[in-house]
Amino acid sequence: MKSQARRNFIKTSVVAGAGVLLVPDIVSASVSSRSESALAGKKVLYVYGGWEGHEPKQSVDLFVPWLRSQGADVKVSDSLDAYLDEELMDSVDLIVQIWTMGTISGEQEKGLLAAVKKGAGLAGWHGGIGDSFRNNVEYQFMVGGQWVAHPGGVIDYTVHVSDQTDPVTKGLNDFAMHSEQYYMHVDPNVKVLATTKFSGEHSAWIEGSVIPVVWKKYYGDGRVFYSSLGHVMKDFEVPEALEIMQRGILWAAESKYQPREKWLSPVYGG
Ligand SMILES: [Zn+2]
Repeated sequence: MKSQARRNFIKTSVVAGAGVLLVPDIVSASVSSRSESALAGKKVLYVYGGWEGHEPKQSVDLFVPWLRSQGADVKVSDSLDAYLDEELMDSVDLIVQIWTMGTISGEQEKGLLAAVKKGAGLAGWHGGIGDSFRNNVEYQFMVGGQWVAHPGGVIDYTVHVSDQTDPVTKGLNDFAMHSEQYYMHVDPNVKVLATTKFSGEHSAWIEGSVIPVVWKKYYGDGRVFYSSLGHVMKDFEVPEALEIMQRGILWAAESKYQPREKWLSPVYGG
């Protein structure tokens, strides 16, 4: 028993060690010169639109200057027709989308899915990728979750950083939000990095429920990153919410350049 525990510890240490090696890239990318950023020289497509309550236009002003400061070559589109441009979609390293609800045509969806499958990353937050195109199940298969409720509307809640080894959340403590607490239907095979617990005050039967807030996954060769934080741009004034989103974007931008991360660990066993 003891030696088994020791072996497990060594195994864990090795994994943690690998995580540590990745950290300097992430840290330097978020704080120092553009040549060191994972986004330097990367082609990014930023697509915004959909329900205006989520401030898609304002998000451009918050995220695009930051992407450019990291050295990314950013194309901004207010139309899903960007997904029809095959040459563009073949060339992008990362797609950032904020498009709540709305509809996507079959051809537009095909272009988006194909690009991510071939290795373009996809990153987004809240309803911008987690509540888009409710009729499109293959799209939801790609994202790994779908918003279904935010009991009580804008409320106080806590985000628990559940993964302290992944570079996206490493070193971050639990933090408070005053916003919508997203209750989501989530693919149980995603890698969950942060969670939130529901009080039951607004929906008694879910008291004590824990739902993922931040996750990463793959769709084909593309890295998909999601955070449910960001109902309005003011939410990104919470430093941890912004830091997580920026680190997630950096991670997703590297699908075509970094080896596939292997951490699939089915929660239901089997
Ligand atoms: Zn919202």
